[in-house]
This record gives sequence, C-alpha cells and structure tokens, in this order.
Amino acid sequence: MLIAATGLASMKSDPSSGLSLLRGLTRKCPNCGVGKLFASYLKPRDSCEHCQESFMGLDADDGPAWLTVGAVTLTVVSLLFILETSGRFSYAVEMAIVLPITIALALLLLPLTKGFFIAALWLLSRKPSS
Ligand SMILES: [Zn+2]
Repeated sequence: MLIAATGLASMKSDPSSGLSLLRGLTRKCPNCGVGKLFASYLKPRDSCEHCQESFMGLDADDGPAWLTVGAVTLTVVSLLFILETSGRFSYAVEMAIVLPITIALALLLLPLTKGFFIAALWLLSRKPSS
C-alpha cells in the first residue's frame, strides 16, 4: 500500500538469478543491490531500505552454518595436510596456525553464506508470482 502510494513499486527490478545470488553473497539486497541485507552481523532487515523489498519470512535456518562448516573444514583440513606433510612444525605450532584461521574463516564466511541463502530463498519466493 505504502509502496504503491509513494511510487516505489517502480523501483522493483528483475535481476538475473546469478546477480541476485551475488548480491546476497555481498550482503546487499538481492532485488536492487543497493540496500543492506543485514541490520547487524547476522540479523537480516525486515525490508530493503532502498527499494522496500520485504525479507520477512526468508529464514535461512541452518543452511548457512552447514555451508560455512563445509567450506572451513575443507580449507582447514587441506592446510593441516600441507603443514603435516612438510614436517617442519610441531603440533603446538600447527595448532597456533590453524586455530585462529579456523575461527576467522568461520566468522568471515557465516554472514556471506547467510546472505547467499537469503538471496536464494528470495528468488524461490518470487518465482511463482513473476
Ligand atoms: Zn533493495
């Protein structure tokens, strides 16, 4: 109602699926790519501040966490394999290298994967109406 009254309905675009997913991955609105998708680190906004697209009901649940754990595991296990086969470091040094990387990578990837999942859910939720 408010959207139609203010003329913001004309701001709705029709981005490609890949572009919407890329926008979600960069934590931007999957519709316009300008507004922010998150109000804080992992809390999604109710709607886009730029185009007023609603994000209500787009609950990513555990998907982002599973994707993050998978990506971090592949990276860390590969790194551990490289460190272990080199034979240069003790277990304590390997732990000192791997543990901060594991934590930093998980904290870095989680908001990105959550944005990706919300963008995917947004795409799925709008397909029947378009
Ligand atoms: Zn937007």
